[in-house]
Amino acid sequence: MSGNNVRLQAIKDVEAYVPPTPIHAEETPGDIFGENVFSIQVMQRRLPKSVFKSVIATIERSEPLDPLVADAVASAMKDWAMEKGATHYAHVFYPLTGLTAEKHDSFLDPVGDGSAFASFSGKTLIQGEPDASSFPNGGLRQTFEARGYTGWDVMSPAYVLENPNGNTLCIPTIFISMTGEALDHKTPVLRSQQAMSMQAKRVLRLFGHEDPDNVVAYCGPEQEYFLIDSHFFLARPDLLNAGRTLFGARPPKGQEFDDHYFGAIPSRVLGFMMDTERELFKLGIPAKTRHNEVAPGQFEIAPMFERANEASDHQQLLMTTFKSVAKKHGMECLFHEKPFDGVNGSGKHVNFSLGNAAQGNLLLPGDNPHDNAQFLVFCGAVIRAVHKYGGLLRVSVASASNDHRLGANEAPPAIISIFLGDQLADVFDQIAKGGATRSKEKGTLTIGVDTLPDLTKDPGDRNRTSPFAFTGNRFEFRAPGSMQTVAVPMVMLNTIMAEALDFCATTLEKAVAAGTDFNEAVQTLLADIVAEHGAVIFNGNGYSEEWPIEAEQRGLKNLRTTVDALPELISAEAIELFGTYEVFSEREMHSRYEVGCEQYILTVSVEANLTLEMGTTTVLPAAIRYQTELAANVAALKAAGVDADTSTLESVSAPIAALRAGLATLADAIAHDHHDDPLATATAIRDTVLPAMAQVRGAADALEGLVADDLWPLPTYQEMLYIL
Ligand code: ADP
Ligand code: MG
Repeated sequence: MSGNNVRLQAIKDVEAYVPPTPIHAEETPGDIFGENVFSIQVMQRRLPKSVFKSVIATIERSEPLDPLVADAVASAMKDWAMEKGATHYAHVFYPLTGLTAEKHDSFLDPVGDGSAFASFSGKTLIQGEPDASSFPNGGLRQTFEARGYTGWDVMSPAYVLENPNGNTLCIPTIFISMTGEALDHKTPVLRSQQAMSMQAKRVLRLFGHEDPDNVVAYCGPEQEYFLIDSHFFLARPDLLNAGRTLFGARPPKGQEFDDHYFGAIPSRVLGFMMDTERELFKLGIPAKTRHNEVAPGQFEIAPMFERANEASDHQQLLMTTFKSVAKKHGMECLFHEKPFDGVNGSGKHVNFSLGNAAQGNLLLPGDNPHDNAQFLVFCGAVIRAVHKYGGLLRVSVASASNDHRLGANEAPPAIISIFLGDQLADVFDQIAKGGATRSKEKGTLTIGVDTLPDLTKDPGDRNRTSPFAFTGNRFEFRAPGSMQTVAVPMVMLNTIMAEALDFCATTLEKAVAAGTDFNEAVQTLLADIVAEHGAVIFNGNGYSEEWPIEAEQRGLKNLRTTVDALPELISAEAIELFGTYEVFSEREMHSRYEVGCEQYILTVSVEANLTLEMGTTTVLPAAIRYQTELAANVAALKAAGVDADTSTLESVSAPIAALRAGLATLADAIAHDHHDDPLATATAIRDTVLPAMAQVRGAADALEGLVADDLWPLPTYQEMLYIL
């Protein structure tokens, strides 16, 4: 019988697995970095001077790309790509599913006489028509306007993606409807970037920078992920179809020993990491650190920060690269936020700062009072933004999968607050008290501090329980989930910062026009911000039981689940904000809200049906087989006149009955979860389907601890997490 047991077979296969021969690469990382990228340097070498200048103007100053220039770029790009072995090109775009999509076309066009010629013009470069009408659009595309268009994002370089079967030139694009509405995650990044820059420049001008360059948002994402052996992955329909285990008892040995965290990386995993880093380097993705994470089988990679737009494209590319390289090493890379219950989940901390080459990092304290005043205004803007629009930050990280992580006792709480650290919090404290220590020297008001202390704190000192923490020269948004695109939180951050910087600039401009001394005006502005928005600053323990109570008294939102958070997208305040800064129209906001509901419903529905199916066809039969064995044993003993102990049989029969009852409840919940309003359906799913799934799982996990090992069909946590 055990010959058919997929779990036992998987264990044998894992034991027999031989990893691929390691590549002993001759080259150094420096040799291959950016090798497959049509970078600015490549363009400079290959494009006529005037064409190159025009492309740079587009990249640096967001000027529209001249169609004639596009033809020249396309021709150079095609030659370069074909030299690199590319036979096809693809417009790569980022639909609202959060995944990456590609439409591939061949460079070769067949001609009537049986031959083919290579065609790739400026028009094909700057516009594609993937149609792609099946992607979610939240009602933006009616049939009469069903076409979707892709357009090259000049800011994000094209690259060649290698594959054993042939290479492809990939062109990062935006994806919009015929009417110009955004159907993707890239378009709003570009729009919000522009909005934020415009307001940040107003503030910089007030600080005496006459003609500041565009200010960009930087993003450094820290990606957590799990690796498990492919044989186990394939033996788990839940991992395969839902990305997380819907069944599985906690292992006897959990993560409480912390023996995996920052421990030695298993050699098979190290091979994978080296291989991924080579691939990432070729694509110009600056992978930097790698280490084990808290949970067994969990790891992290943090590429160097880049401009938000590039960072977000690179982040998507990193995830697809990890998936494919893991397969090559006989493993599966899991990006789900909570693949294993009771084991640490995975996040994607988004490190965020603002700046440009000329002014440097605007969230870095300076070494003179003037620079510090400017730094404090940018920090003040962050405080206002996060307080005023905490709900939007919350919804930017909301998903059915991240719900398993946020608010649980290991990840940041669902309440959005800011951790400033003792020193910066103290500075703002002084400012709030009206600049008690302020003194006027050399015409400079020191707003409480002559020179700021070195705000960089050692990592051990950082508050890991805060969802939004100042870490010396940037803010770290810790709520984003491991699976999601960083584009969404970056759009929120840019847009709420645009509003806050607009407010700061307007206030200061007015004060100065009214004859107030500039430094005095800065002091007043910051004091007012602390008075109005200081409630969002929280340096305490975000995991404590008291925090939700205190947060409520402070008026901070506690949007526990995605269903609670989604309406934030269509609040009057949000629609006004996004409309004012031309990031989203009201229609686009509604479309995103609807897609959010749809995705939630879809995700949980798939899981619910899988739970029903696996519970019925995998777990229950195994349990019944064991029950039958036990019953036969009792009957045989009785027939032999031996006093039969029926307690084992009874202990199995009880959870079998509970499993049956759970499956019936779940089937009923699934049958009755549909409502006309998508949010009502999502609410019903959260309130009836999820608890029914938990009921099924509870019974099944109890059975896992009872049923004979050779009958248990699903690889256990112990096996999946520890055999690497
Ligand atoms: P930790 O785990 O201590 O938070 P990591 O080294 O794992 O630190 O990751 C830090 C991330 O923050 C990296 O992606 C890094 O590039 C990024 N980062 C550093 N400085 C900035 C900055 N000024 N703006 C945005 N991101 C930054
Ligand atoms: Mg880290």
